[in-house]
This record gives sequence, C-alpha cells and structure tokens, in this order.
Amino acid sequence: MAASDARGNIRADIHFSEASVSAQDQSQTAFDVIVVGSGAGAMTAAVTAADQGLSVLVVEKSDKFGGTSAISGGGIWIPNNHYFKRMGGRDSHDQALTYLRAATAGRVDERRLLAYLEHAPKMIAYLEAKSRVRYAVAHKYPDYYQHLPGALPGGRSLDPELFDTSLLGDELNNLRTPSPSTLLMGRIAWTARDAHKAMAKERGWRFKIMGLMLRYQLDLRWRRKTRMDRRAGLGSALVCALRRSLMDRNVPLWLKTDFQELVLEGGKEGGKVSGIVVDQGGVRRTLTARKAVIFGAGGFEQNQQLREKYLPDPTRAGWSATPPGCNTGAALLAGQAAGAATDLLEWCWWAPTIAVPKEEKPRGVFAERAFPGAIVVNGLGRRFVNEAAPYLEFVDSMYRDNAVTGGRSIPAWVIFDAHFRFNYAMGPLMPGQVMPDSRLRNAWLGSVYWKADSLAGLAEQIGVDAAGLAATVDTMNDYARTGIDKDFARGGNAFDRYYGDVNVKPNPCLAPIAKGPFYAMRLDAGDIGTKGGLLTNADAQVIRADGSPIPGLYAIGNTSASVMGTAYPGAGGTLGPAMTFGYIAAHHIARGA
Ligand SMILES: Cc1cc2nc3c(=O)[nH]c(=O)nc-3n(C[C@H](O)[C@H](O)[C@H](O)COP(=O)(O)OP(=O)(O)OC[C@H]3O[C@@H](n4cnc5c(N)ncnc54)[C@H](O)[C@@H]3O)c2cc1C
Repeated sequence: MAASDARGNIRADIHFSEASVSAQDQSQTAFDVIVVGSGAGAMTAAVTAADQGLSVLVVEKSDKFGGTSAISGGGIWIPNNHYFKRMGGRDSHDQALTYLRAATAGRVDERRLLAYLEHAPKMIAYLEAKSRVRYAVAHKYPDYYQHLPGALPGGRSLDPELFDTSLLGDELNNLRTPSPSTLLMGRIAWTARDAHKAMAKERGWRFKIMGLMLRYQLDLRWRRKTRMDRRAGLGSALVCALRRSLMDRNVPLWLKTDFQELVLEGGKEGGKVSGIVVDQGGVRRTLTARKAVIFGAGGFEQNQQLREKYLPDPTRAGWSATPPGCNTGAALLAGQAAGAATDLLEWCWWAPTIAVPKEEKPRGVFAERAFPGAIVVNGLGRRFVNEAAPYLEFVDSMYRDNAVTGGRSIPAWVIFDAHFRFNYAMGPLMPGQVMPDSRLRNAWLGSVYWKADSLAGLAEQIGVDAAGLAATVDTMNDYARTGIDKDFARGGNAFDRYYGDVNVKPNPCLAPIAKGPFYAMRLDAGDIGTKGGLLTNADAQVIRADGSPIPGLYAIGNTSASVMGTAYPGAGGTLGPAMTFGYIAAHHIARGA
C-alpha cells in the first residue's frame, strides 16, 4: 500500500500499529487545569500537572498537535544541566546567572531569571526520569554571545534523541508534519548533532550520512507504510515524546478546539479565571477550570493586524517560519482583556527566511550564513552585519540598516559563487554536488535564486547597486585571504565558527567569491515566533501592571513576555523557558498557592 502523498506527508488513513488511541470522549466539561495549546511548553505543563494528581485537559485549535515546537529544532537551552555534568562538563548556577544578567541587560525581573536557573535543570531531569522525553548534549554548540561573561563554548544546548513514532499508533496522523528543511533529503530523521557534523564537514561526515540513509532504507516494514522515517528527530521527536507521555497518563488532547475567551468569576478587577469558552467547528462550549488555565498558545506572529500594531515596519505574517494560521494572538488578547500587563511586544525571535513556491511557510536560514563564501548585502551592495551572527541579531540589524538606508535592507540579498554553490547548501538549494542547477525546479530561477555570469549582471537582475557589490566582494576577498574580517569580525568567535567549514583556512567562515556563475537569494526579515506577550512572575502567573497576579491564569512560551528579554542566549532559548515555566506553573497550581 502506498501510504504517503506526493510530498511525503503522512496520509490520514494509515494504521501505524496496534497502539492506537481510542476516539476521545469529549463529554466532560470540568477539569482542574486546562492548558491552551499543544506546543512543547503546554504539553510539559500538562504532563507535570497530571503527575501532581490534577485532572488536565489540553485544547488545540488546529487539527494537528505540536505547534511551532513540532517543526522546530527541538533544542533546549538549559544551563547547569545534568547531561553535561554526566559527561564531565563544568557549569554552575552562578556562571549562568552572570551570563543571563549580561544578556538580558536589566530588562527582566531578576526573580524570573533565578526561577529559570533553578527549575530548568530540574525540569529536564524530571522529564528524563518520568516521561518519554530524551535529550543529549550538543556539546559543541556554543552559547550565542561568546563575548559576554559567563558564556560557555558548549554544554547548555540540548538536542532531542530520535523518537520511535510507532509508539504513537494512529495518533501519529495528528502530528504536525515536520518541515522538509529539518529532515535529511526531506524525509530522513537526524539529530542536530548529525546535521552539524555534515554541515561543518567534520571527519567521517559522509559515513554518518550513509549510515542514516541505510537505516532508513533497511526499515522495510515501515517503508511499506510511508516514505516518512519511522524515527522522528528534532522538534518532532520532542513533541512526539511529550504526546506519548500524555497518552501514558490518559490526559485528553482535544484538536480543533479553538480558545475564544476566558471566563472570569468576580469581574475584571480582582476576579478569578474559572474557565474558558472554546469553538469546536462553529459550536461554542464553556469548559470549567477548577484551579487554573495555562496559556501555552504561542504568540501572534500569524496575525498581520497585530504585527502592524506592535512590530517594526515593514512586517509580514508570510515571512514567519511558523505554521500559517496557528498563532494569531487569541490568548494575548484575552489576557489583556482580563487586565494583564504586557512586555516586549515589539520583539520577535527573529530569523531571516527564504520563501519557496508551493511550500506553506518560508524556511529559516540559521546556519548557512556562516558557511565560507556567502555574503549578505543591502540594496546598495554593502554588507551591514556579520553574516554568521545569531539569527535574532541578524534580522535586528536588517531593521537598523533599513532605517539608515531608507528601506534598502529589507529584503537583503545573500550572494555566492559557483564554488560555494557546488559545496554548500543555502535555503532549499542542496549543494550542487548532490543537486546541480539542472535538477532544480525551473520555477525557482527568478523566485528562489537568481543567477548570472557576472556580478554586475547579477546586481542588475536583483536591483542591487553594481559598483557597491563589486567593491564589497573585492574587500571580502581580501579578508578571505588574510582570515580577518576588518568590518564585522566574522569567524572571530566560537559561535561563528560552529557552522564554518573546518577544512577552510585560515578562517572557516571566509572564502573568496570569484568563480562564476554568481548567485543571489532573497532574505526576508522573518521570525520563528513573537517574543513579547503577557507579563508573568517567577511562578508563571499572569500579572497586572501593579505586579499582582490574576488568580487562576498562567502563561508560558510565546504567550508570555520572554524571560530572555530582548536576547537569544543560546540554541534552545525559546523552548527551554517554555517547558521550564510550564513545569513551574503545574507545580505552583498543585501547591494551591
Ligand atoms: C524552523 C524552526 C526551528 C526552531 N528551532 C528551535 C529550537 O531548536 N529551539 C528553540 O528553543 N526554539 C526553536 N524554534 C522556536 C520555537 O519553536 C518556538 O518559539 C516555540 O515552539 C514556541 O512555543 P509555544 O509553545 O509558545 O508555541 P507553539 O509551539 O507554536 O504552540 C502553540 C500552540 O497553540 C495553538 N493555539 C494557538 N491559538 C490557540 C487557540 N486560540 N486555541 C487553542 N490552541 C491555540 C497553536 O495552534 C499551537 O499548536 C524554532 C522555530 C522554527 C520555526
């Protein structure tokens, strides 16, 4: 039986194993805790609350569980974690606090930072002991701000182990399909550690890839069912493990159940949240939450109106790498209506993106900017940032430069030559040695990439100043020879070099742009979620402007204003806090505090 569609998506009618979930009874209307959303933070909260003896319901507006968490890298940034210690690594609470203080620069209540540092290691140790969630240290992945005190060259970012999706039974049909960009060849699961080995071309990378492909091909039973790998990696592994952990506890997760508004007992001033109103296929239902509602409903990045209200201009929901239509800010609006304070609403977890025709959302460009031989320029043909900078700072620089250049930096353009094209990936373009131009879709030429025999010809096609581009390339070629980028110090720290090519000397992030044909790709000012939201305290309770909590209301993940302030301290800086404050909220509710 062929059981996947032309794009490799899992079809809804496949029976994966005996371990099916029976049709869910939706007659119950009262629970101790209702969790809104089914991302990693929400499901961590639900698992923890159930273990505390509370009755829990998870409601999810879409027909798939997992949210953006499911299509993410699944990495979590957990300072002082036991995995790193187990392998002999050294970190401490104080060193991590030094780093977080420097990164957040006074923007976040110190009590929240302390809560994070205390509970993040406990949260992940708990999940390892009690649930299906398994991680390993991506020990070479450095903290993003290597220049700040307390930064580590690796050990705080954790990477999910692969998860055997047959354990989900038919519930696998309800998993949000991972992005092709998170899979080897668009279908084979791998860890971030595997992906890094291949991207950095570390010793043995070809064997690693061959091993993954063989494992996939030889799984004959699963191959007869679907083109998708039996194993899930990255964010899929994380949400599958959490979903299975909810199934182990019989915690119901209702799909197509759209949160609409809060039920407040006693009015807006001093009132307590006692339930929610949901929409199920046009039918409104009121559900009672005896103890609390936890918002884990993501941010507002898919709501164009809210983007225009809060985010810097220009802004487009279509530039976001998050699932279209999911995170439209319903929880934010409901919290505001209940009197909540907000913070950081003008910030996203920025990441440049490339739109690809026929794909439902654009792809984030996280690693490729560091590969040697690609530069990014504005419309004047000038560089404006260290291309290898963390993705948040990269897009922030696009906005800053856009203001200075009168709108010539959004979009920005990544430029590379034939040598780069042959050897490295960029967005959806796999290296030419595996996917030559002749095998690329015709429709991509002039929409995903532009190509010309000369730099001047390329500049003309994309509307970039040709003289400016020629001068920039000359300068960069000098820097490639000396290994020193005098403008932006690209490749000058461990984070930049993480995605460099170890075989390129003297600087793994710099190579000349010399051999035609030349290529350009358009980078939009994208994001992987909004960063601002409802203000919360150290217990994840939603608070008013005077600091008093709204009884019965908690917010985590991108529904809340980030504990990281305007920073992105390391890989996993969004999911780590989402899961940790989910864990904190569940314990706080159980204590009845
Ligand atoms: C390609 C990519 C890679 C990434 N990699 C990483 C990484 O490795 N590490 C990291 O830390 N971060 C990563 N991120 C960012 C991270 O995935 C998000 O910041 C994170 O998933 C946000 O979690 P959340 O729980 O707030 O929202 P989500 O995971 O998006 O979950 C929110 C859920 O709430 C549901 N919802 C929304 N409104 C309602 C409503 N009204 N009623 C009911 N349900 C509702 C949504 O449908 C969704 O399922 C990545 C993002 C992308 C796009």
